[in-house]
Amino acid sequence: MVKRINILDENTSNKIAAGEVVERPASVVKELIENCIDANAKNITIEVRDGGTSLIKITDDGTGIYPDDIEKAFMAHATSKIRNKDDIFAIKSLGFRGEALPSIASVSKIQIRSKCRELDSGIQLNIEGGEVIDKTETACADGTIIEVNDLFYNVPARKKFLKSTSREMSLISDIVNRIAICYPEISFKLYNGTRKVLHTYGTGNLIDVLRTIYGKTICEQLIYFEEHNDIYSVYGYIGKEEISRGSRNNQSIFVNKRYVKDRKLTVAVENAFKSFSTVNKFPFFILFVESYPELIDVNIHPTKSEIKFKDDRTAFKIIFDTVHKALRNDVMDTFMEDIS
Ligand code: ADP
Ligand code: MG
Repeated sequence: MVKRINILDENTSNKIAAGEVVERPASVVKELIENCIDANAKNITIEVRDGGTSLIKITDDGTGIYPDDIEKAFMAHATSKIRNKDDIFAIKSLGFRGEALPSIASVSKIQIRSKCRELDSGIQLNIEGGEVIDKTETACADGTIIEVNDLFYNVPARKKFLKSTSREMSLISDIVNRIAICYPEISFKLYNGTRKVLHTYGTGNLIDVLRTIYGKTICEQLIYFEEHNDIYSVYGYIGKEEISRGSRNNQSIFVNKRYVKDRKLTVAVENAFKSFSTVNKFPFFILFVESYPELIDVNIHPTKSEIKFKDDRTAFKIIFDTVHKALRNDVMDTFMEDIS
């Protein structure tokens, strides 16, 4: 028997999208922080309870959302960041799909409070499983506070697949650390329950953030590299072999201020490092690559953690050369010190 074709209602399709965008608490944290950054926040506080399963609360001092736009923020494909298809090829914001809030809202209980600087009062919205419960005027500070309660309460299968609370917390910590590294000009605070586990100060200096996260000893083993040409800016730190590790945990790549995983770029750094290393371990590195948005496709993966360069050969080359040169200079410096 031929079955009739249905068009899914929005709540159902949001739940399906949630399967891709919100895999676990850490992905919710990532999406919500990216929204704060897109809203030009300078201070972002993240509070987490039970590995993010009972509460993820994020407070920012960004632009806020207009009271009559607030329901829209939770509708599929609703975004303030792009207007039409031409914008897709030159994305400057972290978000653009308009998928995160509706997806998260469909699998949790959300309270959002938001206030724009130019308005006298803010607005509060409660949503459960994607359905708006109530909307009220409220007094709150400029910016946005979003509380995600009981994540996956209505999708037990998802909940079952989560790891222990401490494992989920460490994944959250990891993503927050990486975003903090990427945005030294923003102050981040992360709380696990009442315990503060991260506080960066928004000084604008990358090395300040690295000291906070990795400690002074590690930072003494870092070599800075930097190079610019017409198309690419490449900069960051490569660790001396003393701080190489058995895993790739201490490697971060940011392309146009977006944390990404890219095998080719990783290989570019690792290959440059190889000839200076006597141990078979993975180097510590923080790599920033910046280029014209038109030359990078961030639209190949729903969570945007993978990217594609129009010309990855040139990208590979400049990264390899820059890191190689920095290590070469360091060897030379050490050598000159030794013989003088
Ligand atoms: P996207 O980020 O792809 O636009 P989201 O679903 O994450 O989609 O968010 C939808 C919209 O809600 C955003 O485009 C933005 O206008 C608004 N928004 C979400 N979070 C914030 C925030 N913290 N501050 C200001 N506006 C926000
Ligand atoms: Mg977003």
